Amino acid sequence: MKIILIVIDGLGDTPIPQLKNKTPLEAANTPNLDFLAKNGICGQVGPFWFKWQKYPRSDTCHLAIFGYNPKVYYLGRGVYEVRGINMKLKKGDVALRVNFGTVDKNLRIIDRRAGRIEKTQSLIKSLQGIEIERVKFLIKKSYGHRAGLILRGRDLSAKISDGDPHRIGVKVKKILAREKTKEAEFTAKILNKFLERAHQILENHPLNKKRIKKGLLPANYLLVRGAGMFKETISFKKKYGLKAGFIAGGALYKGIARILGMKEIKVKGANGLPTTNLKGKFLAVKKNIQKFDFIFLHIKATDNLAEDGNFQGKKDFIEKIDKNLKPILNLKNTLIVITGDHSTCCTLKRHCREPVPILIYGAGSDSVKQFSEKACQRGKLGKIKQLDLMPKILKLAEN
Ligand code: ZN
Repeated sequence: MKIILIVIDGLGDTPIPQLKNKTPLEAANTPNLDFLAKNGICGQVGPFWFKWQKYPRSDTCHLAIFGYNPKVYYLGRGVYEVRGINMKLKKGDVALRVNFGTVDKNLRIIDRRAGRIEKTQSLIKSLQGIEIERVKFLIKKSYGHRAGLILRGRDLSAKISDGDPHRIGVKVKKILAREKTKEAEFTAKILNKFLERAHQILENHPLNKKRIKKGLLPANYLLVRGAGMFKETISFKKKYGLKAGFIAGGALYKGIARILGMKEIKVKGANGLPTTNLKGKFLAVKKNIQKFDFIFLHIKATDNLAEDGNFQGKKDFIEKIDKNLKPILNLKNTLIVITGDHSTCCTLKRHCREPVPILIYGAGSDSVKQFSEKACQRGKLGKIKQLDLMPKILKLAEN
């Protein structure tokens, strides 16, 4: 059987008083999801998180969904982000996420996004080609105020702290070694040097001078975080013998899928936002399913809407997903799996530990008639760990 895995980011939630104590998924009118639940089997997935994390995160949860134990395979967020914007990585590279931010003379943060600057191309150009102690610094634009940074050279380590304090009014953080090794101390030292040099270049950049004249915030500091070190990960094809394709708008998800060797199915207007081209995404699944054994479709906006506390928006967006599901409803010999990577609770405005509902259509049915957190509790799948999901899916697809 072919397999379609749809991950609706941050799908699970808790009851919302304003939605008559229903969750956004429960409150949403979803005839197509309910059809799949009614004619499929349901359950709950317990998301993965490291002991040192308070809540599950998207990157590690996706690895777990794909059956890659994060304890073995997790490379650090920066690696997936830079791969997501199509930067090529070499073994031993250290990768970080970057925000263009605004700081004052004392390096105190005025804005972590430099007034949500968009056109950073000329700034990035001025930062290219910097080399410090035989380590090259490669930087590339991501969307908006974001960028990716790679350190390429010998004896590097990703065991370094973030420069981004995640708050305004405080000083940017010095990069520190997070372990007592020569490599970590060296990496922290040269990254601090680079950030200092970048700050000087950006302070004097004509674009920033223009921005100040116009009353806009200058993008005069690189706020870095999420260091990770690249190494090869065994591909999905090698691990499972499945030819896999993916459709995603967000850089992180593209990066994870690429690092697992999945092939991108491009969809115009897939942007990871509530305005994403859902219709195009589902049509692309239908159009491409014969070329692949496995298609991963990622839908992001549910998570962001919940992080904004926008339960109505989350509910409406779930309804929009449901409306666009139609093209895949009558595919033959295909297993459809729909779940989330973790729950995102609108009332808390953040990821939360609640289990995530799941439905699997194409391998029998159970008594569940609706796709919701509550209804799925009674499903035949029971409650499974995220890491046990892929083996389960493969088994169901065999029969
Ligand atoms: Zn997520």
